[in-house]
Amino acid sequence: MSRDQTTKTNALRLGWRIGVPTYETDESFAGLLQFLVANKAIVDEVSFFETITHHLYLPLEVFATRAAVLKRRIAALKEAGISAGINVLCTIGHINEGWDYMPLLPFQAMVGHDGAVSKSCACPNTPEFKAYIRQKYQLMAGAGPDFIWVDDDIRMHHHGVGFGCFCPTCMDLFSRRTGRAWMRETLVTAFNDPNGLERRQAWVNQNVQVLQTLMQDVREAIRGVNPGIVIGLMTAGPGWTTYSGQDIPAWLAALDATKVRPGGGFYSDEQPFEMYGKALEVGRQLVGCHAKVNDRQYELENFPYSALSKAVTSVINECTLALAAGCNGIAFNAIGALTGPWLSERKPLMERVNATRRMWEILVQHAGNYPLTGLYPVWDKGLTARRQVRQGDTWLNSNQWHLYDITRPQLLSELGLALAVEPSVGTILSGRVAEIYSDKELTKLLSGGVIMDTRALDVLAERGLADLAGVRLAHAYDNGVKETLTDDPLNGVYAGQDRCASIEFWGDGKGLGDMLEVTAPGVRVLANMRTYLNKTYGPCMTAFENRLGGRVVVAGYGPWMYLGSTAKREQLLNVADWVAKGQLPLRVREVIRLVPLVRLSADRKHGAVVLLNAGADTIAEATVDLRIDTDAVALLSSDGQCRKLATQPAEGGCRLALDHMQPWSTTILLIGGNPRTLLRDA
Ligand SMILES: [Zn+2]
Repeated sequence: MSRDQTTKTNALRLGWRIGVPTYETDESFAGLLQFLVANKAIVDEVSFFETITHHLYLPLEVFATRAAVLKRRIAALKEAGISAGINVLCTIGHINEGWDYMPLLPFQAMVGHDGAVSKSCACPNTPEFKAYIRQKYQLMAGAGPDFIWVDDDIRMHHHGVGFGCFCPTCMDLFSRRTGRAWMRETLVTAFNDPNGLERRQAWVNQNVQVLQTLMQDVREAIRGVNPGIVIGLMTAGPGWTTYSGQDIPAWLAALDATKVRPGGGFYSDEQPFEMYGKALEVGRQLVGCHAKVNDRQYELENFPYSALSKAVTSVINECTLALAAGCNGIAFNAIGALTGPWLSERKPLMERVNATRRMWEILVQHAGNYPLTGLYPVWDKGLTARRQVRQGDTWLNSNQWHLYDITRPQLLSELGLALAVEPSVGTILSGRVAEIYSDKELTKLLSGGVIMDTRALDVLAERGLADLAGVRLAHAYDNGVKETLTDDPLNGVYAGQDRCASIEFWGDGKGLGDMLEVTAPGVRVLANMRTYLNKTYGPCMTAFENRLGGRVVVAGYGPWMYLGSTAKREQLLNVADWVAKGQLPLRVREVIRLVPLVRLSADRKHGAVVLLNAGADTIAEATVDLRIDTDAVALLSSDGQCRKLATQPAEGGCRLALDHMQPWSTTILLIGGNPRTLLRDA
């Protein structure tokens, strides 16, 4: 099914995850049932956790008893007209938890690359574990759920040990796969060999396949009891690590899942802008998942259920961004451990969700399955497998991790730059992420629009492709430098403006002070690096249209920090527009912290734009240029009302004015269609 065909079937689904203490006794369940029925308008499904802790092992008799309780709870919810299922929290186990008194695993625990043994999480490969987990899922399936969610411990990293699994069973498996006998110690040493690419790839492939087999086993266990149970998979994102191979489409297929819940981080709003990073991380997890998975619930995380950790407004914003990033539902982990009268603590949340539901319904329907549009900071599920290991580096627990941090370019969004999670109108190469590409792929990429830092230029130089950037690294400064914008037209009216990022204060990979040497005619210098005493060293930012027609910009001075000056913002937005050949979907004219997520159809006649005011100031007015092929733009307000906006023709699309955008609030624009009919259609 194409993205466009599914547009009309995109229905919002709101799920609620419920902890054991909230349903186990008849008394607590009575309070819960009353609460859920009272809030039925926003309760599309309820998932009961099967266990209290993230420690995997409990005797099967415990789960047999709990399944009997769950059977009654699920029946009661269905009776009340609410879809009910089970959220299996532990399949492998998440972390070491409660180890002073939880029962020891009676089968092989996960072993880390350093020989550490997990207290709470299992190796997924032993026959004893497989028999146990099959029976556990059979018990859960027997409780009569509409659906079963498999939680996000389906990974080979962060299980109380950093990187697994190096137990004898897994070493034997790898030895058979590679035709050579391996011991843990020698294998870890071999991983650090710069020539060990094939071995590292084979290991990550084993991780992918082990989890794929586990998902097949889980599916067979569930389907064997009841083929009608809908299955969902909760996932962790590639921004954390790709050690497990992060082959989410393969795992979904093995599980026969039609539900997915991408997740990761953002537990409190101490750093509220992290909600945007999580939205992108969620978007990355959805790439390649749309074909069969029509229920894509965002992980709203309030674990460990302290109401004051997040303002209700943060929750609403966060969910809105996630829906803008590709989800069409929300799995609320917000009332998990509350019992009886304490559920009333969540009344303000339930009221706001209720008041917002209509807006979300219209947003997901209008955004359909259109992709995020904008510049694409490159990531890849094979990054850990395929990255280089240089002499002195360690593959696992590397001190070079910042060179592979795919989230670094995200701060460009604070300038009003729309970012994407898959190839779109232009590419951003940061650090050494470009290592994932073959020479041929990299050449193709450089025939389009690219913004890169000088660590990416290093990769090009090693491949003999730096001529496509028109520059080479001349000298790396680590102190006493700033950049000064030239009179190139891409700098607008800001020629001569300085930008000082004080790289001495932030000395890791963020604080680059790299000077460039021009190696081809036609290279434009956008900024020169100068001392604090205004002596010019040489170019530090360039733009080049190469022989393949690609537009390549190289930034050598503090490329991922302190970009928010008026001059730098204007330069970078002009640069982004230039590399994208005018296809950047949106420009905000004022210097304001208005962060966009843009979903557009290929013909740019339909889609949705969500703008986050990511600051504590009210935005009095904003002038927004949309590069769309329609003048039908409607403002969707929080109560679900739509109002057509007046637009003026502007270069590549239309211009519109917005005003009074409250601090930390979202504004939703619907592109295309007739706003009058939206209320009826939605
Ligand atoms: Zn193992």
